[in-house]
Amino acid sequence: MAISVWEKETYYAPKDVVIVGCGFVGLWTAYELINKNPKLNITILERGVIPSGASTRNAGFSCFGSVSELIYDVQLMGEANMLETVKMRYDGLQKIQNVFGKEEIDYDQFGGYELFEDGGAYDISKLDTDIAYLNKVLAPVLGTPKKNGKYVPIYTNESKQIKKLGFQNINALAYSPFEGQLNSAKLVLALQKAVQGKGVQILFNTEVKKFKSHKKGVTIKTNLEAVLETKQLLICTNGFVKQLLPELDVVPARGQVFVTEPIPNLKFKGTFHFDEGFYYFRNLGKRLLLGGARNKDFKNEKTTSLETSKLIQKTLEEFMMKRILPKGAKKPKIELRWSGTMGMGKIKKPIIQQLQPNVYCAVRMSGMGVAIAPIVAQKAVELMRG
Ligand SMILES: Cc1cc2nc3c(=O)[nH]c(=O)nc-3n(C[C@H](O)[C@H](O)[C@H](O)COP(=O)(O)OP(=O)(O)OC[C@H]3O[C@@H](n4cnc5c(N)ncnc54)[C@H](O)[C@@H]3O)c2cc1C
Repeated sequence: MAISVWEKETYYAPKDVVIVGCGFVGLWTAYELINKNPKLNITILERGVIPSGASTRNAGFSCFGSVSELIYDVQLMGEANMLETVKMRYDGLQKIQNVFGKEEIDYDQFGGYELFEDGGAYDISKLDTDIAYLNKVLAPVLGTPKKNGKYVPIYTNESKQIKKLGFQNINALAYSPFEGQLNSAKLVLALQKAVQGKGVQILFNTEVKKFKSHKKGVTIKTNLEAVLETKQLLICTNGFVKQLLPELDVVPARGQVFVTEPIPNLKFKGTFHFDEGFYYFRNLGKRLLLGGARNKDFKNEKTTSLETSKLIQKTLEEFMMKRILPKGAKKPKIELRWSGTMGMGKIKKPIIQQLQPNVYCAVRMSGMGVAIAPIVAQKAVELMRG
């Protein structure tokens, strides 16, 4: 379909900034840019009818890291990198709560837990030492609340609660009062509303196919007839980024999830991690949302396909019956099953970079984009403003 002169001079007129991807990172960056400079002409291009990446398909944990995850991160990328990433996550969560009301995004601070089993990948005998170490190094960096002049512990050993919560085959439990949960699609919608209210244009069903950087800006080709011109281009397509930037160290990682019917006597509220975060679950009202098990089939889960697989779904169901619900509990019906695409790499740090003149990217959220996106956006904006 040929475009009209009116369309060419409005929707498709040259822009100051084009952002590819209407997930948390694209939206938070638009939010930062438009608040810093309300005159900027910004367009977000999104290939889906609605945002179709991980941001509306995740588990809605507002978390900044569990004990075993952070200890593993220290081994993987050193203490300084671990602290930097946790700080970004913690600050990101504060920002979400400062910008949006609890009701608007269904935010609840029920706390976050990590479950451990004897003989698992994490050595439980180290738990108290690791908790003491993390509390010591994290509190001053994060600036967590104090009580009577002392930092409130970020993590505590709550193994005595296991029975009360009804879990099976779990031998230790760590708890953090600073973690919460939210409705991630409500957060995406709230961000959409906030940026559109300030004049940011979002074009859905628009897939970027190619771009070419030149002296004055960037020319963008999409599935539409119109060719777009922009002064700056920011790519925020996370797990899908290889399509446009094959050179980046970002691998797609599928996360599969299900939600059960309401379980009348569900014994817990909160967000829960197990097996270094490979399994995660939370209450959604009286329903159970459970996801993960990617480590059961790493090879086939390195995909951008949004199907679910029998193997992973069955593993999750077994996990629910063997660990989460009390012994002898009736198996609940599964109401919904779905998957989403994360962007992973060799290390767990986002890539926020200029790649060519006027072309930037903010990708590789490593499965923690709910929390980290607001701060990634601030860093991307600093980079783009030079
Ligand atoms: C199952 C699951 C559970 C998760 N649970 C949590 C959690 O509890 N807590 C947490 O912090 N994080 C979680 N995550 C990770 C979190 O959802 C992501 O880190 C975050 O959503 C990434 O945001 P993003 O904006 O970078 O990418 P996305 O949300 O993936 O957005 C990228 C967008 O780009 C669009 N796009 C791609 N290619 C193109 C193109 N060529 N042209 C135009 N548009 C394009 C896509 O359609 C998509 O909308 C989870 C992820 C999954 C999959």
